[in-house]
Amino acid sequence: MKKYKLWLPVLLAAVLAFGGCGGKGQKAGGDASDKTETQENGGSFEKQETSENGPSEEENKDSGNQASAEENKSSENGPSEEENKASGDQASAGDPSPEPALNEETVVRAREEVVTTSSVNIRTAPSTDSQVYQTVARRTELIRTADDGAWSAVEIDGKEYYVSSEYLKLKSEMTDNGYLVVIDAGHQGKGNSEQEPIGPGASETKPKVASGTSGCVSGLNEYELTLTVSLKLQEELEARGYQVMMVRTSHDVNISNSERAAVANNAGADAFLRIHANGSDDSGENGILTICPTSGNPYMGSLYSQCRSLSECVLDGAVNATGANKKYIWETDTMSGINWCTVPVTIVEMGFMTNPQEDSRMAEDGYQSQLAAGIADGVDAYFGN
Ligand SMILES: [Zn+2]
Repeated sequence: MKKYKLWLPVLLAAVLAFGGCGGKGQKAGGDASDKTETQENGGSFEKQETSENGPSEEENKDSGNQASAEENKSSENGPSEEENKASGDQASAGDPSPEPALNEETVVRAREEVVTTSSVNIRTAPSTDSQVYQTVARRTELIRTADDGAWSAVEIDGKEYYVSSEYLKLKSEMTDNGYLVVIDAGHQGKGNSEQEPIGPGASETKPKVASGTSGCVSGLNEYELTLTVSLKLQEELEARGYQVMMVRTSHDVNISNSERAAVANNAGADAFLRIHANGSDDSGENGILTICPTSGNPYMGSLYSQCRSLSECVLDGAVNATGANKKYIWETDTMSGINWCTVPVTIVEMGFMTNPQEDSRMAEDGYQSQLAAGIADGVDAYFGN
């Protein structure tokens, strides 16, 4: 403790000299006094994380979750980062931990392998007021040394850091396959005719949420059918090991198409499935189609091949499972809920509610289960499972 007190002014001066280097990958302590330690921590941990997740996932996380994590960071910590950094170093030198500390009455000390269940902050102390040492992606593997129920201590290159326990799961209990699928049950109880741009920076606008079609025989509203099938799809995908996030689970919501895309983007979805049913003036028209952007989409055209592949896989899966008429993949840049995406997306038009036979079939529980299983088959095929 005394030894470090002596160095504190030097530390602070050095950190100040490096002011403004607080970005990801630029550890705050690039100064002389704790250089070795910092380089060890920063360098090798960063490498480990990259090799686990691959560069493309890393990119997704950055674009998706990083922004909000950064926001948290600045709002929680304020300008006192340097001081926190110094106290973090002291703790590792073997001195008693500074306040706050793990709750000694509830803490369980055991060394175990854990995995992060979402993008999460790793902190220098068990408090949201403490400095964020690093933000790691979902599914980062860590060694936990202690858990008091609220906060867990994790060891990174021999040093102790802290993560909120709710975002950690024992590696041995991880049964999921590592992919996150976000499902958007199309439409909602009441459409919203307010306008929003059809893509980032677009001058063209469309209603936030159209009201959708309805069953000519079943009398079902599209928003009811889409949620029923989406909930079955959630169950099916979870049973197959996917992590699933739902944009909505009730009809009484007001979420625009761009906001639905943002849910998938912020979650860092590996695939975004938008579930819809079709309508036509021609009551004879029937069958399943999927929708993806064109290769020249001005908003997210770089995702074209992934979206195309997802659309192909899901169309084939749904058609094979149901025996429905296979229509085609519609490539269009007119869908706000696609254009706002930064993750691979497809829209599934499950069938025509304006066709008496198809509408009746889609209202059956058994057929809905076939649709869900078929879409899940397509997701499996997309990920090569
Ligand atoms: Zn629709």
